[in-house]
Amino acid sequence: MKPFDRRAFLSIGAGGVASGIVRPTISGVSANAAQPDRDRTPFRIPENDSIWDLHCHLSGVTGKTAEQRAEQLLEYADRMHVERLIFFMGYPFSQTPEPAEFRRQNDQVLTVLERWPDRLLGFAYVNASYPEESLAEVERCIQDGPMLGVKLWVGGRCDNEDIDPLIRRCGELNALVFQHTFFKVTGNLPGESTPDDIAQLATRHPDVPLICGHTGGDWTLGIRSIRQFPNVSVGIGGSDPAAGFVEMAVRELGPERVLYGSDIGGRSFASQLAKVYGAQISDEHRNLVLGENLRRMLKPIMDRKGMQQ
Ligand SMILES: [Zn+2]
Repeated sequence: MKPFDRRAFLSIGAGGVASGIVRPTISGVSANAAQPDRDRTPFRIPENDSIWDLHCHLSGVTGKTAEQRAEQLLEYADRMHVERLIFFMGYPFSQTPEPAEFRRQNDQVLTVLERWPDRLLGFAYVNASYPEESLAEVERCIQDGPMLGVKLWVGGRCDNEDIDPLIRRCGELNALVFQHTFFKVTGNLPGESTPDDIAQLATRHPDVPLICGHTGGDWTLGIRSIRQFPNVSVGIGGSDPAAGFVEMAVRELGPERVLYGSDIGGRSFASQLAKVYGAQISDEHRNLVLGENLRRMLKPIMDRKGMQQ
């Protein structure tokens, strides 16, 4: 593989904010144009890389229907050689959805899973403030439906013991538990979990696969918070593509606990893949992060459902 060239990588575009970056200078001339000629061979995703995206949404993208939105995102995914995409949450964007709303948004995702069964996978959107209704949604969407995990968002913090039955049920079904987490310097939303909350959850459920979404935003703290809990992996999607992020996660957690995801349409495939392709890690570790880990974690539930990887 050629040395990574960030400008060339971003220039191939991904339908998001990362494409087409021009850096202005005082003189008004693009800094890109002012730079001396370098190797401008465009970066291409290596053909043998098998990329599965942990973290995709139907919001942040245009389209009148869920299908139109997914179709547009699949066009970007094809451009970036992303094979499979896990969707959770529908639209419109909502911070504290009531049961009728998260059921309706799960129906939107179920529609696109049915249309593209070979490409799209799904997690059930639930709200920790409604533990009973959320558990019912696990039965409907995972036990009786095609979904493979749950997405817990900012409706209630995950250190709340009311969600223990839901987490236990996910464990029985081999379903993955994805929890959005953030350490915000401006203060979290009332129901917004931190990586410390997911660490609390992990002490009560050491055998259920938990995923610390966004690695806590501030990944230098997030990685430390969950480091001692081997059943907690980090999702690297949806934060800025800072140098050193993936390197630290791989070093401190081991490469098996780091999962690529984009958070598209809130982010671009290009900016989030750049975190992995720009990282100073071995090819073997990169392949784990890009898809092998996710396939390993999903294999038990996909086998139970007779789904092919
Ligand atoms: Zn997200």
